[in-house]
Amino acid sequence: MAQSLTTFAYLIASVLFILALRGLSHPTTSRRGNLYGMVGMGIAIVATLLRPGMEFSGIVIVLAGLVIGGGIGTYLASRIQMTSLPQLVAAFHSLVGLAAVFVAAAAFYNPESFGIGHAGAIHGGSLVEMSLGVAIGAITFSGSVIAFAKLQALMSGAPITFKGQHWLNLGIGILLVVLVIAFVATGSGVLFWLIAIVALALGFLLIIPIGGADMPVVVSMLNSYSGWAAAGIGFTLQNLLLVVTGALVGASGAILSYIMCKGMNRSIFNVLLGGFGAEAGGAAKADGSGQPARPVKSGSPEDAAYIMRNAGKIIIVPGYGMAVAQAQQVLREMGDLLKKEGAEVSYAIHPVAGRMPGHMNVLLAEANVPYEEVHELEEINPEFAEADVAFVIGANDVTNPAAKTDKSSAIYGMPILDVEKAKTVFFIKRGMASGYAGVENELFFRDNTMMLFGDAKKVTQQIVQALQK
Ligand code: NAP
Repeated sequence: MAQSLTTFAYLIASVLFILALRGLSHPTTSRRGNLYGMVGMGIAIVATLLRPGMEFSGIVIVLAGLVIGGGIGTYLASRIQMTSLPQLVAAFHSLVGLAAVFVAAAAFYNPESFGIGHAGAIHGGSLVEMSLGVAIGAITFSGSVIAFAKLQALMSGAPITFKGQHWLNLGIGILLVVLVIAFVATGSGVLFWLIAIVALALGFLLIIPIGGADMPVVVSMLNSYSGWAAAGIGFTLQNLLLVVTGALVGASGAILSYIMCKGMNRSIFNVLLGGFGAEAGGAAKADGSGQPARPVKSGSPEDAAYIMRNAGKIIIVPGYGMAVAQAQQVLREMGDLLKKEGAEVSYAIHPVAGRMPGHMNVLLAEANVPYEEVHELEEINPEFAEADVAFVIGANDVTNPAAKTDKSSAIYGMPILDVEKAKTVFFIKRGMASGYAGVENELFFRDNTMMLFGDAKKVTQQIVQALQK
């Protein structure tokens, strides 16, 4: 009876996790999605603590873990800057990977408690699950640590490459498969730890050749690995909820990586084999080509306010620079003032604007920009031709027409927002630096472009002041 209650609670939690993922797929439902996820996790924890056979000491240990882990997580999450979320996620994934390794080790040394056989006579199926859990867990751990170090600038974001690297990785991958087979055949403790060590090395070697620019995709891939590692461990623990949750995380992480690659028009293999994004962080200068500097038209916030006050249709294009400057609040104030002046204001979101999927949506939602004013690329692109102003704030690559015309460009093929079709294009940025992909943006030099140089928040504040006069 008690066992069926636990199973029933796990079923409800699984359904809530699925609803959570569904809710998170759209800004209007994302808060509800988060709530479903939290309630589902609450039910899962309570059901696990109360499940038959759980000893009091076990409950105390789980609660202690929750307080310590939950405390550290809450502290870190409340302090982290929005722009640093990718590295926070990478750090958390590393712990999921490590947990998978520890659970596999616990099951290996204490099989009786897991009901998977006896020391030296563990069931074959459990040895398979255990070896997969430890291998994927260890790859996730060391890979995530490197991703964290690169994103946090603790090590260079540039790809670290050497001759024969891919062959070495392939060789280590094959060695890992051989070790797993040998471990399943023999159940040897030495082989168990050899799998862990080789997988750690593989995680490290797989991530070092990937440039900082591609790290968000990698973090999402590692997210997927950590889900599969958890699912593998779920089989070992005979915990159906862990299997379902792990599979959900694994599948959604893989889908997210696919969406990000599609947004950048790159294949997942191209990302994972490394090399792109050596100029991460927009370090490359637009005039780094060695050609003489070209003139650009620059204006003042007052000029921008004057032009926008007389505009009928304004499309705002936010990008990474808006996130850095935390300009979303004042941007919404500007939008509100322009609406009062009679303009139609909308926001255009590129699928890979910023540094993580949904980055811009989250910031605009935080500033209470109405959802109906926020539009995806396919929806808004035909509207630029009718717009009087495209207000590009801290975005660069996602507007670069080289993606359509220059086959040699790193961003060739990436769908872009057609801002150049608007009558006037404002670019709010601090200087002439290129964006993430390190590619010069031809639009800066066009006749219908006006550069508004300065920090995105400060410039927008000055525009707001000018509009209030
Ligand atoms: P971007 O091309 O990186 O350009 C951002 C621009 O913001 C820079 O040119 C920079 O120019 C400016 N900027 C930085 N700080 C600023 C500040 N405080 N005030 C004003 N401007 C500031 O950004 P994007 O157009 O959003 O494109 C995103 C890029 O990231 C794409 O290449 C995409 O492929 C890549 N990416 C995105 C994701 C994702 O999931 N979203 C994942 C992986 C890669 P200045 O230095 O001159 O100010």
